[in-house]
Amino acid sequence: MKCKLCGNEAKLLKKSHIIPDFMYQDLFDEKHRYYEVIVNKEYPLRNKLRQSGVYEPDILCSICDNEKFGGLETYASQALYGGIKLTIENGAINSSKYTRIKGLDYSKFKLFLMSVWWRASISNLPVFQHVNLGKHEQIIRDKLLNNDPGSSEEYPCAIFTYLHHDNNYHPIIAEPKCNYSDQQQICTFLIGGNLFVFYTHIDEKTEWVRHSAINEDGVMQIVQMSENLSAKVVNKFVGMDLL
Ligand SMILES: [Zn+2]
Repeated sequence: MKCKLCGNEAKLLKKSHIIPDFMYQDLFDEKHRYYEVIVNKEYPLRNKLRQSGVYEPDILCSICDNEKFGGLETYASQALYGGIKLTIENGAINSSKYTRIKGLDYSKFKLFLMSVWWRASISNLPVFQHVNLGKHEQIIRDKLLNNDPGSSEEYPCAIFTYLHHDNNYHPIIAEPKCNYSDQQQICTFLIGGNLFVFYTHIDEKTEWVRHSAINEDGVMQIVQMSENLSAKVVNKFVGMDLL
């Protein structure tokens, strides 16, 4: 079978992650299980315990999955959860609070983020059925293959968090919500108390993303959502008040 990334005929892995395990780390209980809440129009709210993360068979060869994506995941995990020396500052613009992170490896972190969007797009799993990059799927595939993160204006990802609230509801993995037009594609993933909002590019309506998404200097700003906004976001994703 052909690997969807490199295109080589190879023995494909039986378990490839779409969203890497480490992104659920706040969600796993001591037995390495997590609570999954999925909501969409076709089926009602389900709350089920799964053994581990979301896997898919027969999409990637071991070189692409273990070496290429594995290397990016190791870096991203250390960047987000510790293991790399970074400068972290909390600040505020008007009433909007943020965490500014400096010292990131732009190429590795950006490629990691793009790889998550791309994997969700090529996935056949029902939970990712609305993620479809269209013509951008091939463009991002080429970038991943060539280790080309592109400029910070291309495929930026803004990260929002509500992990700082005590009464939050972390154990949620929701079906990503996507919005497509000819001009812009926006796809939002809610993963373990963080919201990852992907854009195909920065335009006049999304100018603010420039200040949030990682830039070529290795700086990004994670937006700390207010309690009110967090509640609205969770409500939008799972259709119920959880906060
Ligand atoms: Zn491959």
